[in-house]
Amino acid sequence: MAEQFDVAVIGAGAAGMMCASVAGQRGLRVVLVDHASKLAEKIRISGGGRCNFTNVNAGPANYLSGNPHFCKSALSRYTAQDFISLVKSYRIAYHEKHKGQLFCDNSAEQIIAMLQAECAKGRVQWRMPCKVAGVDQTATGFVLHTDGGEIAAKSVVVATGGLSIPKIGATDFAFRLAKKFGLEVVEPRPGLVPLTFHGPDWTPFVPLAGVALEVDVETGSRKGKGARYGHFREDLLFTHRGLSGPAILQISSFWTPGTPISLNLLPELDLAAELIEHKSSTKKHLHNLLAQWMPARLADGLISAAGLQPDARLADLPDARLRALGAAANAWSIVPDGSEGYRKAEVTLGGVATRELSQQSMMAQKVHGLYFIGEAVDVTGWLGGYNFQWAWASGVAAGQALAEV
Ligand code: FAD
Repeated sequence: MAEQFDVAVIGAGAAGMMCASVAGQRGLRVVLVDHASKLAEKIRISGGGRCNFTNVNAGPANYLSGNPHFCKSALSRYTAQDFISLVKSYRIAYHEKHKGQLFCDNSAEQIIAMLQAECAKGRVQWRMPCKVAGVDQTATGFVLHTDGGEIAAKSVVVATGGLSIPKIGATDFAFRLAKKFGLEVVEPRPGLVPLTFHGPDWTPFVPLAGVALEVDVETGSRKGKGARYGHFREDLLFTHRGLSGPAILQISSFWTPGTPISLNLLPELDLAAELIEHKSSTKKHLHNLLAQWMPARLADGLISAAGLQPDARLADLPDARLRALGAAANAWSIVPDGSEGYRKAEVTLGGVATRELSQQSMMAQKVHGLYFIGEAVDVTGWLGGYNFQWAWASGVAAGQALAEV
């Protein structure tokens, strides 16, 4: 005989624990199933171990989705302030780091412990580690076939996340299950991920690994159906394989393979105008001049990429060469050859298509009692606490809706 529950939540990550606790605290019999042996590994490693658990500015404009309006309902009904109140009620100390990003003062473990305590309040039962081989619909709901036996539930919530970081248990379970039930899945791809470069255009920048500076970065276009355009001012980091840092992680989610990204390495300075203006009044070498505005190694890389000599005197260079150097710094357009992929991606873009789900409850329109929440859904946040806020908000939306059925 299969064990009988009101709700089976598959995936005990951020969204799954939130949903299970909300449904349990409203009186439903809830089981939470996860195949991992260690609980909520993604929360544990998030934010460098301090979990950037929300962003005070989180709103629909901070998310990418086939339908930018889909996330509005859940985000407005469970806000960053709601999660902050929960964090405060557990006396977890936190601080704001940058652009509204909130981090634990001590450890991400505190967020995990808080969610576990919330589940305990709702008498949620745990099956972990427990592998779900499949889910079938029955006359009374669903049956989960697991390596620990069958679990029957009136409703199933799929909270198994996306494909990022397979080595800590990410799977395509949500996407396979959605397809099995006839639901459309928007092609998944890695997001918030370092970009890789190689070839002659990149060669001058290879020695720059470790150099960091604040830049403007943009990609894409605002025009055309399904157009994606992103623009950020954030820190850029040169790596051994290409570019990373918050600027690149942010823009990677907007980037279409084969197209360029454009970087302004000196957002506060028009380099060509500055060089031309000072041409007659300075005896400085090119390298020394550039190094006043940017890291010295980057100055070398740009001078070499422009085919100039570092010890060239400004006064000896024609304006056209200075304009070309200015453009290389203020409008550097370069085509990444790829990304570091799911191995390094913080999130998965795409997922269960929003048109298949109710934005109020997260339930599949075609399959009564089947819900998808969190990163498994085609809603992806920017870097900065937005992805956890979506996990909490979509988890609460489903948890509340389950209790109202
Ligand atoms: P997850 O948290 O990924 O949980 C999914 C759960 O499902 C896991 O426990 C997994 O074991 C389980 N599972 C998967 N497949 C199966 C299966 N077949 N059967 C049973 N169980 C299964 N976001 C932020 O907002 N702030 C941050 O600071 C931040 N830092 C990050 C740092 C890193 C390195 C990474 C990788 C991500 C980070 N993110 C951050 C993104 C954030 O972690 C995710 O968006 C969020 O965890 C998604 O929540 P989720 O519950 O949907 O999925």
